[in-house]
Amino acid sequence: MKAEKGYFKKRWTGRFPIALVFPNTYEVGMSNLGFRLVYEYLNRYEDLVCERFFLPEEGEKLRSVESSRPLTDFALILFSVSFETDLVNLIKILKEAGLSPLREEREGGPPVLAGGIATWLNPDPFTPFVDGLLLAEIEAIHARLVEVILDRRPFTAIPGFLPADYEITFDEEGRLKEIKHPPVTRVIARAIKEPPLSRLLTPHTVFEETYLLEIGRGCGRACRFCAAGILYRPPRPWPRETLQKALEIIPQGAKVGLIGLEFAASETVESLAQALLAKDCTLTFSSLRADALTETFAQLLARQRTATIAPETGTERLRQVINKNLKDEDLLAAARKLARVGIRVLKLYFMVGLPGETREDLEGIPRLLRQIKHVLDQETKPRGYVVELRVSVASFVPKPHTPFQWAPFEGVSGLKKKLKWLKQAVKKIPNTHLTTDLPKWAKLQALIARGDRRLKPLLLALAEGKNLNQALTLLPVNPQFLVSRTREKDELFPWEVVSLGVKRSFLWEEWEKALSGRPSPGCVLGRCKRCGACP
Ligand code: SF4
Repeated sequence: MKAEKGYFKKRWTGRFPIALVFPNTYEVGMSNLGFRLVYEYLNRYEDLVCERFFLPEEGEKLRSVESSRPLTDFALILFSVSFETDLVNLIKILKEAGLSPLREEREGGPPVLAGGIATWLNPDPFTPFVDGLLLAEIEAIHARLVEVILDRRPFTAIPGFLPADYEITFDEEGRLKEIKHPPVTRVIARAIKEPPLSRLLTPHTVFEETYLLEIGRGCGRACRFCAAGILYRPPRPWPRETLQKALEIIPQGAKVGLIGLEFAASETVESLAQALLAKDCTLTFSSLRADALTETFAQLLARQRTATIAPETGTERLRQVINKNLKDEDLLAAARKLARVGIRVLKLYFMVGLPGETREDLEGIPRLLRQIKHVLDQETKPRGYVVELRVSVASFVPKPHTPFQWAPFEGVSGLKKKLKWLKQAVKKIPNTHLTTDLPKWAKLQALIARGDRRLKPLLLALAEGKNLNQALTLLPVNPQFLVSRTREKDELFPWEVVSLGVKRSFLWEEWEKALSGRPSPGCVLGRCKRCGACP
């Protein structure tokens, strides 16, 4: 903590202590704006003290960052979970603290709640371990949350609260039959009064010593694979006037990360960036949409020397299936613009295992990379250097609440073969480096994303250090049944205990359009009622 700036170190006397836990390493947690904002919001309340916990590194003890207290000293434990597989770490942390990881076995002790987008996606696998789930954005509920906590009222008074003891039933084949709880509407901030700005600085994150400012939340591009695009609907570009207030807070010469650019108006981003540059700030930007890259924005990106584009697929055909309606020519034009302004590293994100993917789509990835490389070389070789391509390929996991929730997960062996082939193919492209995920971890992600409370023995075994294959044998249901089959149109999903306001009929229609490769328009805020998320 010595290296941090902007943390809260409060006296405990007369205050209600909350442990805010990120079930992953300090570096990962402190790179997460949502987690940082929860910490900063809660600590603004005089009557609360909120301290952070992270997954301890090898040899470290589980202690709060601020006062080095054990987890059990706190009156409330609040997990912020962004990634499905961090549920295993949540269990490890409870055990490490000397608490039973199982809700039903805990007697007394602080209540354990969990929030964060992994819980909005599918809360059911969390239910054996936590007492309740907070399906809400902090800006929308902090006042009520604090009121309920301080008045010792039941958590059910918090908007977006889902108690973990609801029941579900299965039919003889193992399909979900009934959820004995009405859907809980996850609560979002429709408007904000102050800019979503984190002032908590640390050298030990990817955003080293960086103020993080969110320009907008959500994305209205309507990519069919994207969970965040649905979870944060409707997309909310924050008003320019609200964002301008951040300029008064951010000091001269600071490092500033602008994030949430997917749906923000380029004029807003550019004017904010220019104002920050006028204050001698150093800027970094999150990934950008290739067809939204203006000359001015390219100039801004050039300062960080690295830019990121996500083509997702190797062919336009498959991009149409996922409704990422980017043409190859858009990607090549973006690469050319970036090369012209002096980018030295271009990061490119792809996925494999998407519904309807063919051999040609896979072969399209190295083909597209060669085309991009050619364009970059044309621009930079005469100037005496080459741009490095850093390519990341991830295994596709069909996520809840998206049009692909009906799709199967491809499976470990098929994905391994594809990734092996890609590694060989990309090796032949100069100055191009490929990294891939591990399909077996994608399978675990798929299980937690698509499964339910029956995963309990698997998760406990993983938290005890068993390997995935050993843990899979403990499941009472065939894992293939959970992840590898195309779901039926009317099949009930465990995640339907959460309502995002997006109609099931809209998702099904999008799934059918995907199967026939038909595109859909993105959000037109104020003039569209298509998915149901807009009032
Ligand atoms: S109703 Fe239309 S504009 Fe609103 S979130 Fe849905 S698709 Fe987007």
